[in-house]
Amino acid sequence: MTHQTVAAATNNADRTVKVTSKDLPLYCPSEKSQLWAEHPRVYLKLDHDNQSNCPYCNTTYLLES
Ligand SMILES: [Zn+2]
Repeated sequence: MTHQTVAAATNNADRTVKVTSKDLPLYCPSEKSQLWAEHPRVYLKLDHDNQSNCPYCNTTYLLES
């Protein structure tokens, strides 16, 4: 029952991955994310704070210029 393990991992929403303009367009899972982010690749749009939150794994991406 690996589903339980995945659910437990996704409940921990305290993850922030810093990216740079070189990482754009931003998508998740990225090369910087680990095994927690196993889901179909999704492209993320940065908000006005240069942050983006993945709806699948709840990882927050923060753009550093
Ligand atoms: Zn994700």
